[in-house]
Amino acid sequence: SLTLSQKVRNLKPSSTVVVSSRALALQRAGVDIISMAVGEPDFDTPPHVIAAAKAAMDAGKTRYTAVNGIPELREAIAAKLQRENGLTYSPDAVTVTSGGKQALFNALFALLDPGDEVLIPSPYWVSYPEMVSFAGGVPVAVPTTSESGYQLDVDAVRAAITPRTKLLMLNSPGNPTGAVFPESTLRELAALAQERDLLIITDEMYEHIVYDADQISIARFAPERTLTVNGASKAYAMTGWRIGYAAGPLALIQAMNAIQGQSTSNANSIAQWAAVAAVTDSDAFIERSRAAFRQRRDRIVAGLNALGLETPTPQGAFYVLTDTAPIHPDELEAARLILDEARVAVVPGTDFAAPGRVRLSYATSLEKIEEVLDRLKVLLDSR
Ligand code: PLP
Repeated sequence: SLTLSQKVRNLKPSSTVVVSSRALALQRAGVDIISMAVGEPDFDTPPHVIAAAKAAMDAGKTRYTAVNGIPELREAIAAKLQRENGLTYSPDAVTVTSGGKQALFNALFALLDPGDEVLIPSPYWVSYPEMVSFAGGVPVAVPTTSESGYQLDVDAVRAAITPRTKLLMLNSPGNPTGAVFPESTLRELAALAQERDLLIITDEMYEHIVYDADQISIARFAPERTLTVNGASKAYAMTGWRIGYAAGPLALIQAMNAIQGQSTSNANSIAQWAAVAAVTDSDAFIERSRAAFRQRRDRIVAGLNALGLETPTPQGAFYVLTDTAPIHPDELEAARLILDEARVAVVPGTDFAAPGRVRLSYATSLEKIEEVLDRLKVLLDSR
């Protein structure tokens, strides 16, 4: 008989994927569903990036590349980290992966021994605890609250440290909270990591999508113990191209390369050439997306609160966490009602450790946001 490994049996499918596949199935059945579930920009990949991919194909850049990525891309990333983040890395301290997910995966497998504890501020992105467990580690949530705008209390982090704590995983701007950690918090966390000999993985995937706050890279304050993870998906509307990267201590990057060399070999060659164009020259695109996201954020936050669905104002990323108590006390049931009756797909907070709330992604047009607000009003009026 077919017996799957214990590792895989412990793995939870991503709830984001579960909801979006149910929404897709309804859509295929002809139901007019608006999806607020998926975490991807609705913009098209910018034309200069597409052009670079076409040129790469025409030039025959269709073969295996170096495991850690083409030198041109690692150089472009090192230059970007210097220019935008104030971080100094040689191209060899950069590795290119099949999405930010793969970078996180490689890093956790390179670092964790069985029982090693990883501190993760909650609410968190669903994949963090699952990846940590899959790599043999133990995820430990450090809760934050909506009252504080999901800001991280450094004393709470300190209190969660045990002799088994190895790593602190940060995500600022955060999915799903939208919280952006200020420089003072990052400096204190860097000092704490130094004092207690912890490593830091910082996922800066949403760095460019910030509104009322400055995004700062914690690697500035603890370069020797920080791995910075980022990617092309959110910044340049390139989710399907699957390009991520990481920069950090050389020994860790080399270990990640060894893992990659025995698994995916290298990120897609054509997408790497496209990413050179994206990383080098996207300021105008980033400005335009940020302005569009800000308008949408302002509209959806105001609209949900006006309906009596309490929603904190996120400082970054493109998600809101909405209190669904007026719809149903249980967020899973609330998400089901919102999908089945309002025909809007949202993600229940259950797997994000955000009980009583659902996540809506507002990476969608203002017209759709208005329609979602109208549908939610009808649902609320019927209850
Ligand atoms: N990190 C966070 C916080 C995310 O929300 C996502 C995507 O949803 C990723 C990483 C992964 O992005 P990708 O693998 O597309 O680079």
